[in-house]
Amino acid sequence: MTDRLKICIDRVLPRNVMRLQLSRRGPDHRMRAISPIGTLWMNGSTLSVRFMGGAAAQHAVAREQAGWWSQVANLKFDFNNAPNADIRIAFNPDDGAWSWIGTECRAIPVGQPTMNLGFLDGGTAAHEFGHAIGLAHEHQSPQGGLAWNEAVVIREMAKSPNFWDEQTTRHNILQKYRMDQVNGTAFDPASIMLYFFPPEWTLNGVGTRENHVLSSLDKKFVAGAKMYPRTGTTVSTATALEVNAKRRTQASIGKVGEEDLFRFTADRDGRYVVDTRGPTDVVLKLFGPGSETALIAEDDDSGVDSNARIAANLIAGGYFVQVRHYNRAGGMGNYSVKVRRM
Ligand SMILES: [Zn+2]
Repeated sequence: MTDRLKICIDRVLPRNVMRLQLSRRGPDHRMRAISPIGTLWMNGSTLSVRFMGGAAAQHAVAREQAGWWSQVANLKFDFNNAPNADIRIAFNPDDGAWSWIGTECRAIPVGQPTMNLGFLDGGTAAHEFGHAIGLAHEHQSPQGGLAWNEAVVIREMAKSPNFWDEQTTRHNILQKYRMDQVNGTAFDPASIMLYFFPPEWTLNGVGTRENHVLSSLDKKFVAGAKMYPRTGTTVSTATALEVNAKRRTQASIGKVGEEDLFRFTADRDGRYVVDTRGPTDVVLKLFGPGSETALIAEDDDSGVDSNARIAANLIAGGYFVQVRHYNRAGGMGNYSVKVRRM
């Protein structure tokens, strides 16, 4: 059984794995897919993709299955093979299938892949592109519904071909994301972000099946307010901020999971500070210059109280600011934002 099991490793940067948060119950929304907070691209972005090796037939599969997401989410893929593309795909058959999650891809050195498609069975490429747009594993949903027989899972994953130690198995399979680290709640057994697990791996003898197409809830989730809605604010409708404006710009997250997008122009090189104030706990990300996907920095609470603040040396150019609620119960509220040159 085990030798047929292909486990995809979520590559999440250690700072996020280690990030300690209070555990809170999420609102009881019946959203199914899950996304770690703070890994989403700006709504309406075009993500560039580069193939690092691979054959034309492999490229065609990757392109087709990436399209399953862009048909429903407000994101586009541009397969332009740019050296510094946002998503860089290797096809190393000895390295399994994996991807970094969402904007974490931007932290990987440009010469290295952000995704590996060592095999392309079924919906593997769609699954990995799901990670690349910010989705995590469905079996790691806080409401996963899988009653793991931990001893069996650890024993089986220690065998060929995985040879995982207990810690690796705990991280990749058993450990669940805490409720406040993810968007979405209830478990979707049809999600493409779920992997096949045999019934012997659970205490109640209920395993999972492997899914090769997007489930209707996958589609609904990525097109929803928490991910990439067609009706939401996009990079092309971002609100302009004036640098060193006299007043702070008032804003509000009106729907659970919604993001706000702002843009500003740095008219000269210098040190700039973007910060938020107010009762709403937000995650702040800065992109640019002249790029909607080049992540410069992110922050959730280094400002006053639990406000977010980013200070960065910027060259003259256009920049984007993404604000999302830090998915605590309620998930909405007012805040203000300001950018100033020091
Ligand atoms: Zn995966």
